Amino acid sequence: MIRTVLGTFAALALFVAIPRSQSAAPDLILQNGRIYTVDAANTVAEALAIRGDRIERVGSDVDVLRLRGPATRVIDLNGAAVVPGLHDSHGHVTGLGESLQNLDLRGTTNYQQIVDLVRMRVAMAKPGEWIVGRAWDQNDWADTRWPTHEALSAVSPANPVYLTRVDGHAGLANKAAMDLARLSSASADPPGGQIIRGERQEPTGVLIDNAQALVASRIPPPSDRQLEEQILLADTEMRRLGITTVHDAGTDGRVVDAYKRLMDAGRMKTRVYVMLRGSLASLQPFFAKGPVADDARHRLAVRAIKIVADGALGSRGAAMLEPYSDEPSSRGLLTTSPEEIYAQTLAASKAGFQTAVHAIGDRANRLVLDTFERVQKEVPGSRSLRMRVEHAQILDAADIPRFAALGVIASMQATHATSDMPWVPARIGRARMEEGAYVWRKLIASGARIANGSDFPVEEPDPLRGLYAAITRQDPAGQPAGGWMADQRMTRAEALASFTREAAYAAHAESLTGSLEAGKLADLVVLSSDVMQRSEVEILKTTVRMTIVGGEIVYESRRR
Ligand SMILES: [Zn+2]
Repeated sequence: MIRTVLGTFAALALFVAIPRSQSAAPDLILQNGRIYTVDAANTVAEALAIRGDRIERVGSDVDVLRLRGPATRVIDLNGAAVVPGLHDSHGHVTGLGESLQNLDLRGTTNYQQIVDLVRMRVAMAKPGEWIVGRAWDQNDWADTRWPTHEALSAVSPANPVYLTRVDGHAGLANKAAMDLARLSSASADPPGGQIIRGERQEPTGVLIDNAQALVASRIPPPSDRQLEEQILLADTEMRRLGITTVHDAGTDGRVVDAYKRLMDAGRMKTRVYVMLRGSLASLQPFFAKGPVADDARHRLAVRAIKIVADGALGSRGAAMLEPYSDEPSSRGLLTTSPEEIYAQTLAASKAGFQTAVHAIGDRANRLVLDTFERVQKEVPGSRSLRMRVEHAQILDAADIPRFAALGVIASMQATHATSDMPWVPARIGRARMEEGAYVWRKLIASGARIANGSDFPVEEPDPLRGLYAAITRQDPAGQPAGGWMADQRMTRAEALASFTREAAYAAHAESLTGSLEAGKLADLVVLSSDVMQRSEVEILKTTVRMTIVGGEIVYESRRR
């Protein structure tokens, strides 16, 4: 009896299910385009059909238009190029949102411009309210020495000011901010940080790496409403730029909860692959719960952690095996102890979490690879967690093949290379530079996978700028001619894959995103020009016409 009923149910289910799935027509067909699928054979197709949140078919116009039903919307691409939804494999979502809220100092060419911008902001602020800004870079000024606080303190006597350097590894505070932090000539440098001082040991206002927290920790945290506003500002920006998945390179449970709220309410559309950052104690509840690979709609994955091993090259904080060429007394800083890096990697691996470690200098990279190798031996199966090195900028030749050997992903940012190239030779000298600075070609040749990103808001979030930098190793003005260390450029196909297929692999999402193939999520971008064929300069002029996430048009430019 029971068997009969079950049998009847099964038969009914088949009877109902099969005709429905066969008869339902696509919701949307894109036709007459150049669709770069980035499948294993890099197939280029004409048309693509979407049903629900999935790609139904990819192929010729004739083949795909055959599926058209009475309710199917058909978009004629008029030959436009389509690429898979782009991943930014290393971005800071709330940082981007915050930068859109705060003073943007990018592009300032001298200190006085910054002082003027702060003066204008002070005029609008309430007394005591913090003035926060970011992205100054003294390397862009005629005088490239560190600034000092006096001019800033003069225009803002009552409002604390804190301005972060472009790489996030140094900050400039005014007197009001330093007073709140009780900074004085008697203050000691914290571990992994440095207070820049004047002749009488007095703080000049510039704080390096871990010393930034002395002042930054005094800035009140954003309210839930401010946090949601940051996330939504970033979400809007990412949709406009064709970013359909972001790997959030270091966040916490509060932000994860905000993502959930905004996604459930249908307000946030960009998919997020979260790397949790915090103390081992703060990570334990996530480890106890285990990796969260997906919600039903694959919007949010929480299965990775982020550790920061060293500082940045611009502020000479990157941990080097040998001293800096332009500061022989320094080899940079480890910002997290080797013991802590090991302990977090071990705990994450046991819990089935991927570990991603920021490592810029060759000493930090070696330490991280050593740690990964050790943990892979100690935790069987942990190699399949696809451990990642974030940045991997300066590598010792001996360490380059270890990425492929250990199955470690090199999560790199093409625009970091083209932003840093003017001063890299001074920092590390020509020999170390040619051996291992931003060596994409050497890594690919060794069998490593490179996931590309921007590290926004450190760099511009536009992935097409990254694509251009990956292909040319030139700045937007086309300098230097032929490209910096031109033998390390990526091909166009490799560059596109690094923002799609390879990035999806780095997020354990290659069965869902990263290429345009039947059955995968319908995440794709329609571009204003064909970045795979047109001149390199034209890549920089290319804009996104339409962004589709899970079959839904989430951005459309006004002129199509
Ligand atoms: Zn970062």
